[in-house]
Amino acid sequence: MSDQIAYELSTRYTPYSDGTTVIDFGQIATKTIAEAENAFDQPLAKLHLALDPGHVGGVWAEWERRNFRISKEDHWVREGELVLEVARRIRTRLTRLGAKVTLLREDYQPINPKTFIDYWALATAEKMPPTELSLKSQLDHALAVRNRAIYLAIVRDEIAERARLVNEVIQPDALISLHINAASWPAGETQQLVESDHAHVLIFGCLSVGELALPSQQTRLVQKMTNGSGPVEAQLGAALGSALVEATGLPASNYLGRNAVRILPKVPSLWARNLMLLRLVDCPTVLMEPYISNSQSSYARIQKALSAREYHEPLPADDILVEYADAVVTGLLRTYECY
Ligand SMILES: [Zn+2]
Repeated sequence: MSDQIAYELSTRYTPYSDGTTVIDFGQIATKTIAEAENAFDQPLAKLHLALDPGHVGGVWAEWERRNFRISKEDHWVREGELVLEVARRIRTRLTRLGAKVTLLREDYQPINPKTFIDYWALATAEKMPPTELSLKSQLDHALAVRNRAIYLAIVRDEIAERARLVNEVIQPDALISLHINAASWPAGETQQLVESDHAHVLIFGCLSVGELALPSQQTRLVQKMTNGSGPVEAQLGAALGSALVEATGLPASNYLGRNAVRILPKVPSLWARNLMLLRLVDCPTVLMEPYISNSQSSYARIQKALSAREYHEPLPADDILVEYADAVVTGLLRTYECY
């Protein structure tokens, strides 16, 4: 290192005066050159990215209705667990590229400090007490209250808490929320895999008439339209949507109703939708929805991926979770590399 510093001083920095007698080599070696090299080797050195592994997983997966398998021999498919691995893989890759990466959760526990017990009174107030005194109707009511309290704790307020954490504590340049999509089970069939498999990404927008009438929604709309997050979300969303479709080979998803709208004709995988997380987070936020986990094609790939992990075998060449993570890294590099 000191040879290189002496060389640079004599040929470039102090060619006509003897810099080696004046400069403290130790200072240059530990600080300046290391930082300068980072600028070349680490194209994402200026980026602070937050990753939200969607949902919770673990013992909460059943309550989240994100826990299924087709036969008893299969591995359980739990969205909250799959996307946590994807988030960790993205963090490893991005950290090597110089980015700072913060995950919103590191395990299968909610980050909301309140438990469902804290929501018991609220849930009780929302559920009409039974008119009958029969044991069955009393038990049904108690179960309805419990289920609502759990929903409030691990879904509604969990999302609110994640948004608060991003806005007030982490304050990253951007947030990417990682999900794996699923289709409604076909009517009348019990857990029969569907044929259609597709991918898309979401950014904030598309408020309905009813939503727009609410003051809290109006406030967020104005904040999101004036805080600079909008154009970045569109650009980042387009890059991530394109990278996702290229990496997975899947067609772009279609929304048939009026709860979502396509943003760019050239990027059919990019949709705007008024989801709670997209609305509440201040920084540019993109929510990823690749794969239909209960489709024939993606279900088979998820089972293969989970098998390899369970038996500690080499990952399949087309591992679905690696493919997902790679697509996100590609989209981020396309957005931020020249930044
Ligand atoms: Zn999800």
